[in-house]
Amino acid sequence: MAAYEYETHDYDVVVVGAGGAGLRATLGMAEQGLRTACVTKVFPTRSHTVAAQGGIAASLSNMGPDNWQWHMYDTVKGSDWLGDTDAMEYLARSAPAAVYELEHYGVPFSRTEEGKIYQRPFGGHTTEFGEGPPVQRTCAAADRTGHAILHTLYGQSLKNNAEFYIEYFAIDLIMSDDGVCQGVVCWKLDDGTFHVFNAKMVVLATGGYGRAYFSATSAHTCTGDGGGMVARAGLALQDMEFVQFHPTGIYGSGCLITEGARGEGGYLTNSEGERFMERYAPTYKDLAPRDYVSRSMTMEIREGRGVGEHGDHIHLNLSHLPAEALAERLPGISESAKIFAGVDVTKEPIPVLPTVHYNMGGIPTNYWGEVLNPTADNPNAVVPGLMAVGEAGCASVHGANRLGSNSLIDLVVFGRAAAIRAGKVVDKDAPKHALNQPSVDAAFDRFDGLRNANGSTPTAELRLEMQRTMQSDAAVFRTDKTLKEGVVKMTEIAGKMGDLKVTDRSLIWNSDLMETLELTNLMPNALATIVGAEARKESRGAHAHEDYPTRDDENWRVHTISRVEGTEVTLSHRPVILDPLTTEEQGGISQAKIAPKARTF
Ligand SMILES: Cc1cc2nc3c(=O)[nH]c(=O)nc-3n(C[C@H](O)[C@H](O)[C@H](O)COP(=O)(O)OP(=O)(O)OC[C@H]3O[C@@H](n4cnc5c(N)ncnc54)[C@H](O)[C@@H]3O)c2cc1C
Repeated sequence: MAAYEYETHDYDVVVVGAGGAGLRATLGMAEQGLRTACVTKVFPTRSHTVAAQGGIAASLSNMGPDNWQWHMYDTVKGSDWLGDTDAMEYLARSAPAAVYELEHYGVPFSRTEEGKIYQRPFGGHTTEFGEGPPVQRTCAAADRTGHAILHTLYGQSLKNNAEFYIEYFAIDLIMSDDGVCQGVVCWKLDDGTFHVFNAKMVVLATGGYGRAYFSATSAHTCTGDGGGMVARAGLALQDMEFVQFHPTGIYGSGCLITEGARGEGGYLTNSEGERFMERYAPTYKDLAPRDYVSRSMTMEIREGRGVGEHGDHIHLNLSHLPAEALAERLPGISESAKIFAGVDVTKEPIPVLPTVHYNMGGIPTNYWGEVLNPTADNPNAVVPGLMAVGEAGCASVHGANRLGSNSLIDLVVFGRAAAIRAGKVVDKDAPKHALNQPSVDAAFDRFDGLRNANGSTPTAELRLEMQRTMQSDAAVFRTDKTLKEGVVKMTEIAGKMGDLKVTDRSLIWNSDLMETLELTNLMPNALATIVGAEARKESRGAHAHEDYPTRDDENWRVHTISRVEGTEVTLSHRPVILDPLTTEEQGGISQAKIAPKARTF
């Protein structure tokens, strides 16, 4: 057994992650007087949420008629009928209050002439249950909405006495023998000390795993650490095959150009200068949802109408928009286009390509953020002491495809919901856990094994192999052949984890070791993604399967549940929750309105 000394900290709640979801949960917990620690591997305001540009969806009706029922309908349809209906209702209904709360906390939203929160159109957000024109539902602070939210929530959390453990890396969960989460084991990156957090509730808010792919808009820190910890604890992941490609990553760098650019009037063209989205989505054109636009772009490129020397990308045009509008509404992306593509958006189009952007799948939860461990008898069984929120979780409101600006609202709505729930289930006066020592020891043993890993494959090399395989075999379009080959390749790659080579054995700022820990988290996420994709014999949302081009509600309107152990992925299913929280008589939406139908735009 590896002997590492550690300090123990006792809290009511430990939140792992300080992005939008983690901070909103932390703030809500602290406001209720729960003793709350927030552990984060990067400084809070460096979390990936800081990069969110476009905005946050809520039916405020500041720019025209809107209501939560329309927002809910769009979310149901956007999910391609895979989201859990109760959670989607909770999201759409709670969204306006959650945004006003942000406003009162101090988020500096852009304003309309009358001083109301400015809202812009975003893909898939419509009026009249998808029958009317696009709606302006996405609340924005210029094109720096995530930045504004993160700074505000961090300040508020400090004001409410939440305690921050910054640049602490969470290694593993501490689980009791009867399946209760008791806390988390952490490594402090800057001084090499170890910290065991004993908590009545652990909240995983660790973000997505975009870095399982070669080209992603997400930060290098988006390595699915929460999913990795959950998989190692023998718990489940859900709907991992659904990976969103954003239509407009800058060609080459993958850096994101917000959908807000099209919301403000930008449009895509092919090598013939044609606005091809008019052909694929006659009603919503460039503002059709992301999976749809990404596929249309890929079709254009495949059919020889891509732009550039290799005909391998597409143009995004903004130069017809007034220069003042660009400067006021899209200053950040004008700068990104200049830096990453050398383009002056007032004069030239931006070269763009669909790029991995968001993970719809994650740790399954109910709409209170409580983690589920689905069994044959009880598909909605709760894991005591464990919650997951934000991109790490899967509530599931995004189903097979997330609508733009529905993630930021997911972070705050479910971060808030988790805090409300914790206020009810955490007993401040209960004695602390007697920690399950073998579980603590196992975390240190794993850490020590990696620290001394002395094989022949450097971490960076194996990571690149994984990223390239995922990029080519679990892509925008998938076939039986690519997926089968992908599963074989990924199993082989995951098998090399035992042959890793870590060269730096120190404990202080050892980025080699940290990246190795991250790779042990990326790998189960990637495996679950490709194995789940290979198994799903239909096309739904972001999962576009060429051999099964249509959606099959009879056989496949189910959540994929995956458990990963080493290189083995075991799949099962969990039913989709079909009932909304309220009936039509109670002011809710009728079942008939949200019944599955063809998804056209
Ligand atoms: C470029 C870009 C633009 C986007 N724009 C929008 C938009 O306009 N609107 C919208 O709705 N959505 C947008 N999204 C999606 C949305 O921003 C993300 O889904 C969301 O910010 C994720 O937030 P999070 O709180 O779940 O995680 P993150 O913000 O990724 O934060 C994760 C946190 O977990 C911590 N962490 C992770 N692992 C560990 C560990 N092992 N130990 C300790 N701490 C750990 C990190 O330090 C970090 O604090 C965008 C995404 C990207 C990449």
